[in-house]
Amino acid sequence: MATLSVHTSPLDQPGAGDAGGMNVYIVEVSRRLAARGIAVDVFTRATSSDLPPVVEMSPGVTVRHVSAGPFEGLGKEELPAQLCAFTAAVLREEAQHEPGYYDVVHSHYWLSGQVGYLARDRWSVPLVHTAHTLAKVKNEALAAGDRPEPRARVIGEEQVVGEADRLIANTDEEARQLVRLYGADPARTLVVPPGVDLDRFTPGSRGAARRTVGVPDDAVVLLFVGRIQPLKAPDVLLGTAARMVADDPALRARLQVHVVGAPSGTGLDAPRQLEQLAATLGIAELVRFHPPQPPDRLADFYRAADVTVVPSHNESFGLVALESQACGTPVVAAAVGGLPTAVRDGVSGVLVDGHDAADYAAAVRAVLARRELLAAGARRHAARFSWDRTADALVEAYVAAAGEMAAAPPRPARERRGGALRALPGTSVAR
Ligand code: UDP
Repeated sequence: MATLSVHTSPLDQPGAGDAGGMNVYIVEVSRRLAARGIAVDVFTRATSSDLPPVVEMSPGVTVRHVSAGPFEGLGKEELPAQLCAFTAAVLREEAQHEPGYYDVVHSHYWLSGQVGYLARDRWSVPLVHTAHTLAKVKNEALAAGDRPEPRARVIGEEQVVGEADRLIANTDEEARQLVRLYGADPARTLVVPPGVDLDRFTPGSRGAARRTVGVPDDAVVLLFVGRIQPLKAPDVLLGTAARMVADDPALRARLQVHVVGAPSGTGLDAPRQLEQLAATLGIAELVRFHPPQPPDRLADFYRAADVTVVPSHNESFGLVALESQACGTPVVAAAVGGLPTAVRDGVSGVLVDGHDAADYAAAVRAVLARRELLAAGARRHAARFSWDRTADALVEAYVAAAGEMAAAPPRPARERRGGALRALPGTSVAR
């Protein structure tokens, strides 16, 4: 199958720039699809001249770097102008193989969807699309001072929604948004929750984790993980910490706020803004900033924390919330987007309406008061999600869409050339 990820590569370290949950999603799902006998080619834009054109990411998963525009210095907002070059490269790659080489195309984010629907027409295979974020939803929940998503993106998303054979939503809420805001056909809109790697994000020893990340045993640790941008509202976490020490001055000696991640999106406009805010709030000495961490190291940050705080203005799902819970750390999260699915209010953490620091401080205190109970609830809740289940549901969607296409009266542009989902040598395709 062809997986399209135009603007960010599954080989990138998530937690900075454009690399986040979508990258993790593509890596985890591609590996599991390959394990089910489906060879995956991931097409992504080459962002450095050092990158080899083809990289074997894991058995059965190949990353193909596409030359489309200059390697460096091109922002996401400039990528629409490169979609023709990107599409041409994808079509040329397919043309080098026997007809029917790809059985399905799965596009991620609207930029890839634009490439995907032309590829779908040329190859006569289904287009399955995951939006990851939606401009209309984002624009309804803008952080103060954040720029609205441009109209060109909204139009591009509407086109992809109209063209895709299947739309994959992370949650019921996202499926409803696709139908309500974009006119998606409910029959072609499926909810497939993302997962969490329960072998990697495990509870482990809190004491050992604290030693690894350099936190004393008696500290009270609040954690933020993710790309630093207004949409993720890390400022609300700093406000929360300021509020907590104002309410309880003795806490100042023990409270620590750890922020893991680097600027992204509009956060790049003022990369030191959070440090300045900590100073303004008088809590600079309580806040520690860490660069993006690889998953195993990140698991230690989750284990070391008392509470992970996810105060986002919008979040299509919130993998960070799930990973934290898998590590046995309850979450205080904004009751927006996918977070009410990712966090079970009162069982694995606490959901907060709005973005008032006083409300978050109260929620953090509520979690600290019964942390052990919520930690157990967090582990149980996270165990309900798995990337294997995500991959199985996607295979079902691919097969159903392919079956529908094969049964449809042939149209010249979509006449089917290929067979069933192609299996890796020696394995069979899950059906
Ligand atoms: N992440 C990471 N290292 C970091 C920060 C984040 O690997 O230092 C990963 C994190 O494990 C999670 C993803 O980035 O899987 C962020 O996904 P989420 O859904 O929380 O937010 P998104 O980036 O999609 O907005």
